[in-house]
Parts: sequence; C-alpha cells; structure tokens
Amino acid sequence: MLFEELNLIEPILKALQTEGYTQPTPIQEQSIPTILQGRDLLGCAQTGTGKTAAFAIPMLQLLSKPHTNTKVHKAIKALVLTPTRELAIQIEESFKAYGKNLPIRHLVIFGGVGQKAQTDALHRGVDILVATPGRLLDLMNQGFINLRDIEIFVLDEADRMLDMGFIHDVKKVITKLPVKRQTLFFSATMPQEIQKLADTILTSPLKVEVTPVSSTAEKIKQEMYFVTKNDKKNLLIHILQDKTIETALVFTRTKHGADRIVKDLIKVGIKAEAIHGNKSQNARQRALTNFKAKATRILVATDIAARGIDVDELAHVINYELPNIPETYVHRIGRTGRAGLSGTALSFCDADEKDFLKDIEKLIALKIPVTEDHPYAMSWQSLMSAAAEKPKGGNPRGQGGNSRGQGSRGNGKPAGGGQGGGQREPNLSGAKRTPSSGSRRWSSKGSK
Ligand code: AMP
Repeated sequence: MLFEELNLIEPILKALQTEGYTQPTPIQEQSIPTILQGRDLLGCAQTGTGKTAAFAIPMLQLLSKPHTNTKVHKAIKALVLTPTRELAIQIEESFKAYGKNLPIRHLVIFGGVGQKAQTDALHRGVDILVATPGRLLDLMNQGFINLRDIEIFVLDEADRMLDMGFIHDVKKVITKLPVKRQTLFFSATMPQEIQKLADTILTSPLKVEVTPVSSTAEKIKQEMYFVTKNDKKNLLIHILQDKTIETALVFTRTKHGADRIVKDLIKVGIKAEAIHGNKSQNARQRALTNFKAKATRILVATDIAARGIDVDELAHVINYELPNIPETYVHRIGRTGRAGLSGTALSFCDADEKDFLKDIEKLIALKIPVTEDHPYAMSWQSLMSAAAEKPKGGNPRGQGGNSRGQGSRGNGKPAGGGQGGGQREPNLSGAKRTPSSGSRRWSSKGSK
C-alpha cells in the first residue's frame, strides 16, 4: 500500500515525500483511516513501529479543516501526553515534519527548563500541544492552559506513564478534558491498570496491534560476547576500531558507568558523549543532536535517558552490560533496525550476568549467537570458572536473587553490586510491574 491510497491531503503527501516515506508501516495503514473517520483508537505499539506518524498524520489532516468558530482560534485543539521530554520533543518534531505545508501551530512543553518561552508561545496560540504530565499540570494550575476545547487527545506510552509514577497526573489531566472528544491511546503492554484506564476513556475504539515486544528482536542481528568485566573496556575499543561502525548507541546500567566509558573512549581518540539523568536537559539534547548529526560517534546512555531515543539509521547498539529486566534488552536493541532498516546489537556478558542472559533468551525465544573472534574471547566454561575463583562479592541480582530487580524497589537501594560506586537509574521497564502482574503482550504472533 502507498500513502496516496490513504486519502491524505496534498500538503501532507508532499511532506511525507520530503521525509522519504513511500509506504505506510502496518500501524499507520490500520490507524490512519480510522482516525480520519473520527473514531477512538487503542494501539498496542512501541517506538520504532511508526506509531508517531500513525497518529500525527491523521491529526494534522483533521485539524487542517477550517474551524468556523473564530472564538476557538486561540484554543488548543489537540493534546498529546507522553512520559518523557525526549519523546515529547521527538513527537513535536514529527508534527513539524509532516505538517510543514500546513498552517497548524504546535508546541512542546516539558519540565526542567524555564517556562517563559513556553507560556509566550501559548499566548500566541497553539493548535497541537505535546506535553509531559508534570509541566502540563503546572501550567494548567497557573492558568496558562485550558483544555476545554480539546478535540483530539492522545495518550502515548500509557504503560510507561504507570511505570514512571505519572498515572495519577494523567488521570487528573483527563478530568479536565471535554467529554466529547476523540481519544487515541497507545501502550506497548496492557497491565491491568492501563486496561482499566483504556476502558474508561475510550468509546468503541478500533484495536490495532503491531509487533509485540518479544518479536522486535527477530529482525535485528544479535551477537553475544563472553568477556570478563575487566576486559569490557578493551573489547569495546577493539570493536570500535572497525570504521564501518559509523555510530553506535552504547547502553550502561549506571550513570557513573556511562561517564567512565566516555572518558575511556575519549582517551583513545573516539568521540563519545553520555546522556543520563544527571545531565541537564540542554546537555542531553545537545548530545543527542550531535549524535544524530554524526558529529559524535558514540552515545553512551542509561536506559532511562535513552527511553524513546529515535535516531534514523542507527545501525549499532552495544549493550556494555546486560539489563536485569529482559524487556529492557528488547527496548534497547529496538533503537536499531527501525522502519525496516537493518541493525546489529552487540552485547557483552560477564560471569555475573549469566542469569540475565538466560532471562533474555527466554523472552525472545532465541539463543543469541556467540562471537568468539576477538582478542578477549572466553568460553562460557572459562568465564564461569574464572568467576568461581573470585571471592564471592557483587551479585547483580540483589539480595533476594530476584532477576527482575523488584528487590531494588521500595528501599531505594540498587539491586546489584556489579557496578561499584555506580548510581543506578530506576529501571523503568520493571518498576511497579511484575511479569505476571497482569501485563500481557497483545499479539498472538511472535514468541513469548
Ligand atoms: P516511531 O515508531 O514513531 O518512533 O517511528 C520510528 C521511525 O520510523 C522514525 O524514525 C520515523 O521517522 C520512521 N518512520 C515512520 N513512518 C515511516 C514510514 N512510513 N516510512 C519510513 N520511515 C518511517
């Protein structure tokens, strides 16, 4: 199918051409006609499936219809709520790209930065507002934002909202929306609480399911490197000597670890920057922009900071450490191989991480091929016996041996000891959610 067959208006088709899009992705093919009809939608999709365009394109078309009521000229007509600043910025960039030939005004607001520029833009008038919940409520309470004229409401990454503790704020926002509206609801998983929320705010929605989290992994080339903790740094440098790796996103579990890797890489002349929760919003955005422009070759990120990072043509993801939540592995490697492009995910696994590897391989129902062609290669057996010789110390699974890291929550202490001195960021994928707590993957396709 082509975009031309979706009854889109010329200015949008032209913008899509400029973006180089020809064919809609499955979620776009299913969602666009429904949203154009004014129906509610319940979409099960994560980033990388084209879900942003799936809602942004029809929204732009619906809002480009002339509004006869001049009183609402200044009113906000559509609201997109999303959990993180990075996602909010990327969503607004999508509206900008697809709406470049339309006179529709959009604005993104998020916390952690001054509000003056945001309130000035609100005064000038905004049609589509993209927001994170905290700043939205803040500006609503100060009287800068009124949601009474919202025609379309998008709740993006609903399950992450729950994981990040924003669900109460989201519910507060919803009470301020007009009852008569179109609602588009997106979530990668459907924990019970999210299902309940969807049931209350949607009216006979069309349900659209795309690639479940576990099968995203199938289209990405995956390689496992067994290596000692001490050799990881040298292995990374060795791998990056391969100049065909133009850019790579490297994941670490801790902010401290991210900074250390950046230092190590810079020392050997590899341009690298870190992005994590201790960096200011501006520093994070600058690092991301440099990385997207390929001015920085390596971006080292923690899971929380990398949430939703969308870099076109990212061909390599490197897991410097394996995550203790298997879903996080799938989210990480999903940063590559997007929109049909090929991608490679390399992972380093030391002796302490063997249980994480087991959990990951169980989730993706795939044995990840082991690469032995490198100077630091260790067989599984030698890695295990080297570990056995070491005095027992850090157990990355934490006190209770809980592989999902649930043991880390509640007391605010990190689950593991693998990263001495590292300040661990909260693990969003697992927070407040256990694999059996009612969350379910939607598609019957793929593996579990
Ligand atoms: P998303 O799932 O919204 O995060 O989008 C993932 C990536 O796919 C983004 O980089 C989009 O620019 C890109 N993309 C979305 N739709 C299409 C399409 N129909 N053709 C090509 N690329 C697309």
